[in-house]
Amino acid sequence: MQRTIKYGVHRQGHLVEQGKLTALGDGLTPLSLARQRMLETGQLSPAQFVGRRVAIGCVALEITQRCNLDCTACYLSEHSQSVKDLPLEEIFRRIDMIRDCYGSDVDIQVTGGDPTLRKVEELVAIVARIRRLGMRPALFTNGIRASRELLARLVDAGLIDVAFHVDMTQRRRGYSSEIELNELRRAYIERARGLPLAVYFNTTIFDGNIDQIPAVVAFFARHSDIVRLASFQPQADTGRGVADARSATLTTAAVIRRIEAGLGTQVTFDTAHVGHERCNRYGMTLVTNGRAYDALDNKALYNALLTRTARQRFDRQRPHRAIAAFLRCLARNPDIVIRAAGWFGRKLWRMKRDLIAARGRVYKLSFVIHNFMDACHLDPERIRACVFMAATADGPVSMCLHNAHRDASILRPVRLRKADGDWFWNPLSGRLTRGEPPVTLSKSG
Ligand code: SF4
Repeated sequence: MQRTIKYGVHRQGHLVEQGKLTALGDGLTPLSLARQRMLETGQLSPAQFVGRRVAIGCVALEITQRCNLDCTACYLSEHSQSVKDLPLEEIFRRIDMIRDCYGSDVDIQVTGGDPTLRKVEELVAIVARIRRLGMRPALFTNGIRASRELLARLVDAGLIDVAFHVDMTQRRRGYSSEIELNELRRAYIERARGLPLAVYFNTTIFDGNIDQIPAVVAFFARHSDIVRLASFQPQADTGRGVADARSATLTTAAVIRRIEAGLGTQVTFDTAHVGHERCNRYGMTLVTNGRAYDALDNKALYNALLTRTARQRFDRQRPHRAIAAFLRCLARNPDIVIRAAGWFGRKLWRMKRDLIAARGRVYKLSFVIHNFMDACHLDPERIRACVFMAATADGPVSMCLHNAHRDASILRPVRLRKADGDWFWNPLSGRLTRGEPPVTLSKSG
């Protein structure tokens, strides 16, 4: 039986949002649950993506705790390197659990540690399972073992995105600055070129590299034919990393300034809302002839488009279908078309010289600033509004919370339900025992 709950959101005395949450049977739908979380934490607005279009931002599926680098800002724990890789059946159970929690319109980050340290056949099976359930698998890797051959195999299995983590916190031999690391980024881009993959780059920001971020951003703009998204994460005091606590000057505003300096233009980072405003900022640009133009500078138009297209699913793998679906939405909303045409016409006029030079080629390049919390300063409101979850044995948990208590999760014996009864997998020995769970070292951060 379906029931509805009406709600209204007021800001400074004005009604900015009203609608209804849909409950099916005994429980709310994933989307309406997400909407409710945004409502309860004061994050529901006409610009909020989560709860309106998707039930969650993304879910991290850690398929190994091992890594072949030792970053100064690493979120893993001191014990991670000793933990064996989770049995494949447990990984599969967690994938199913993600689908049960959020439906199939979900991005899953296949990550670790570095996921490429897992046996190739297992990695392929994991990606294939995610895709078979209708979700979108992304490989999150430092790239060391992500060869062209591996990427091609994973694409065949259903991989949609690859995110390369490259920055100076990794202390890679032979690189003394972010600018030098652009050569490595270029090599990774070439590995992915021609494959049907969206390429992302992750960059941890700390005092030692923040002033080099404009050069990195300019590099991404020059390679926007391949790079779709650049994510910047100010370092957080969590995990085994040895970096000092974040300085007071390492703020979201400071990162935005560096991005804008690299692009040579203003970028609007408060039009699209994804989860809590103190966690995530999103900006989108259109790049032509190497020059970036702000794509989200019309908030009213964005809000209207989001509202009218909220329930439409766009297939990122098939751009033509996505565009056709978008056009069908517009056809049902002629008033939006008129507003959008005016904005678009002015934008094209400003871009005209670069468009001509680039023979009409335009690329979308997005920027995310993800502001992880320090383990000892977790804000309960942000945890409640979290849109970046980690898949644990008990279900999805806020990534910040997971990082702060990682040992409690990764050192715990894992129950495997088999046809002949319950078995327990020991994360330190990798051995299976029947009946009672084995005792392992457990420590919460
Ligand atoms: S992981 Fe942390 S910073 Fe990211 S959305 Fe969740 S609570 Fe916010």
